[in-house]
Amino acid sequence: MKTIVRNIRQLATPLGERLRKGAEMAVINEREHVDICLSAGRFLRIGRDLNLEIKPEDTVIDASGLVATPAFVDPHTHIPFFGFREKEFFLRQRGAGYLEILQAGGGILETTRQVRAASLEDLIGFNLPFVYALQRKGVLVLEGKSGYGLDRENEWKQLEALSAIEKITGTKVFKTFMGPHAIPPEFPNADAAIDWLCAEVLEELAKNREMVDFLDVFCEKGVFNYAQSERYLEKGKALGFKTRLHAEEMSFEGGSLLGAKVGASSVDHLIAIEPAGIHALANSDTVATLLPGTSLFLNKPFAPARNLIDAGVGVALASDFNPGSCTFYDPTIIAFLAASKYKMTPAEILTAQTLNAASSLGVADSWGSIEEGKIGGLLLWDVPDFTAIPYLPGHERLRFVIGPVGILRL
Ligand SMILES: [Zn+2]
Repeated sequence: MKTIVRNIRQLATPLGERLRKGAEMAVINEREHVDICLSAGRFLRIGRDLNLEIKPEDTVIDASGLVATPAFVDPHTHIPFFGFREKEFFLRQRGAGYLEILQAGGGILETTRQVRAASLEDLIGFNLPFVYALQRKGVLVLEGKSGYGLDRENEWKQLEALSAIEKITGTKVFKTFMGPHAIPPEFPNADAAIDWLCAEVLEELAKNREMVDFLDVFCEKGVFNYAQSERYLEKGKALGFKTRLHAEEMSFEGGSLLGAKVGASSVDHLIAIEPAGIHALANSDTVATLLPGTSLFLNKPFAPARNLIDAGVGVALASDFNPGSCTFYDPTIIAFLAASKYKMTPAEILTAQTLNAASSLGVADSWGSIEEGKIGGLLLWDVPDFTAIPYLPGHERLRFVIGPVGILRL
């Protein structure tokens, strides 16, 4: 049983099985009048006027006038969470600071309260609609994390919810353990929390490897400092885990340097990165994952994407979808922000949302580009050219999403 997509007007994709760094990000393979044949969930053949035998059980899609790109990969979300925080959003618009929001019952710990109160079924049910909505926006691979439970039972519950969501939806879901997302209310300080994570939690996770793909830490002033983050990541690395960091979001703490040093898969945010961090990332294969939705949502500065790319860093884009600091998840909005705020080109944006995002999750060999042998994640757009995608945020110009989730006709 094959899926044959005929007469694609324009195919635009990065190529390769590894991170594209710096100027390589602008290299996009563009072809016209292309046919694609998918079989067993993979791209089988790609070319002009493929002479394919069509059997009755095959599906044929006429893509005349449509533009093809690889499926999106979102390598940084905070799925699964529970409940929204709109009260805090409007307090912030009135000028309320972090402490006032905390006193009014807002902040990460408010989501912790709600996640702890939710059952596993509640947590799965609340998050499924987001994942289905993301599929219809072309996101077929995403990363989600724990970090709202902040105790053993509820962090586990979040990881279990991610496994269940992957099974139910067919979206490829990467599971990140982010125990050090905030200091748990039961601990007196960050050092005590890191002691507990290293002595107990990471050891237990190491015995349950199927539960987790990555470890993450919020390396930030007032949360976990460089030394504490290093202790946690080095312990995780010694146990064989792949790592990522939330780094330099509000202040430069050196998380980008730490990420490059420990060989992290990705360092994320980087709003306050300094030249030393950019240099370290340029000399590493650690991906710089940028989250422009968060900057817009919180009225914060935007990460220096141009400086990173021009210095030779490999940049990916993600949503950071969460209830406190970014409720956007539409990849066309992220693409628009990357163009207008980061000054990235359409080709760089496409690479950042596909192949480089897949690299950040360690799956550039199977996702992130339209190439024979790779998993067949394919989007067909009603736009004049792939460069129009970032220019039309939220326009719903996607007509087909094809992948392991089946064929969605929109
Ligand atoms: Zn985050």
